[in-house]
Amino acid sequence: MIWYPYQQMKTMKDPYKIIDAKGVWLYTEDNRMIDSVSSWWSVIHGYKHPVLTEAIKSQAERFSHVMLGGLTHDPVEKLSATLEHWLPGDLNYSFFSDSGSVAVEVALKMALQYYVNRGELHRTKVLSLTHSYHGDTFKTMEVGDDEDYHFILEAYGSNPNVVHVPTEIPALETAFELCHEDLNCLIVEPLLQGAGGMRMYDLSFLKRARELCDQYDVLLIFDEVATGFGRTGNRFVADLVLPDILVLGKALTGGYIGHAATVANQKVYEGFYDDDPDKALMHGPTFMGNPLACSVAQKSIELFEQEDYLTKIRRIEAVTRREMEGFTDPRIKEIRIMGGCVCIEVHDPEVLAGYQQFAYERGVFARPFLRYLYAMVPYIIGEEELVAILDTMKTWFSR
Ligand SMILES: *Cc1c(COP(=O)(O)O)cnc(C)c1O
Repeated sequence: MIWYPYQQMKTMKDPYKIIDAKGVWLYTEDNRMIDSVSSWWSVIHGYKHPVLTEAIKSQAERFSHVMLGGLTHDPVEKLSATLEHWLPGDLNYSFFSDSGSVAVEVALKMALQYYVNRGELHRTKVLSLTHSYHGDTFKTMEVGDDEDYHFILEAYGSNPNVVHVPTEIPALETAFELCHEDLNCLIVEPLLQGAGGMRMYDLSFLKRARELCDQYDVLLIFDEVATGFGRTGNRFVADLVLPDILVLGKALTGGYIGHAATVANQKVYEGFYDDDPDKALMHGPTFMGNPLACSVAQKSIELFEQEDYLTKIRRIEAVTRREMEGFTDPRIKEIRIMGGCVCIEVHDPEVLAGYQQFAYERGVFARPFLRYLYAMVPYIIGEEELVAILDTMKTWFSR
């Protein structure tokens, strides 16, 4: 029996069974639908991309996995060199893991140990944003502020080592003034908070965050598991404001296989670089640097560059703005658009009940949650298919 994610098993309706997938299309036995979710925002090149499929196949014919403890291999060396070259600034040191949550855990561990290695044992606090989501593992749940995880607060009470602030500069300044001595890091989903409701905020907040982190010697972590690889219309938000640690996941492998990276800058790396073995980073997921994942990630990045994905994403944003222009409904609170993300926030979650089946019948796969009806499409989508998704969203409100 499969225990499905985020589902009340007693009341959930049967999931759609996928038998094939190609481009933006998912196929069931008797229907096909455009994937407006990109399999949790990861399948940026669409399904069954010949270049990516070939990358996995040819690596599988050599070896599918070896551990990274005491061993290394071409795919991981190549990917790490590519990231070193491709990522902005001195974000040069990639620690690989198997999922975004684990990569965030690694970032949080790095930030804490960075100061412990310097003898600053009191720096136990993490500053993060209200409505943030950083993953499903225990520490990432605590650092995040997802409504679904507030049961932890009920059970344990509020965590003295996590401080939440809204995305407002005065609140951020106050938080730094009050607790900078105990902070090891500020962690944010930059510009776009995904699972917390596709909330978008201004770059000026991140610029101020960078200044405050510099002023008080606190590490800045960008969790770009969702925003990375073009989703906001920028390649990475880190191209605009440089963090000390960058976390990548989801689209890293073009959605082919789970993998993630925690990328540190020179300063963080040097905080561990020592003759003392106790100052080493103590982490090592079994499948870190998996050769299949690294091979496909490498090809995914090459495609992103060769086929000028940033132009594709700008076109997605332009078409979305054009189609949504002037669209309103009293049930809608706000429509937000940024890069390859569009979100209709409604006042009452009941308004979205039944939408998934409605979309299915119109050849679109969607998965609204709480008060949010959104699309985060594969970047290879054609205009006609994109318009079909947006029309389906709009038609829902015209019933
Ligand atoms: C999805 C997500 C994660 C967790 O990634 P998993 O691979 O699901 O563990 C972490 N941070 C952000 C911002 C995400 O969107």
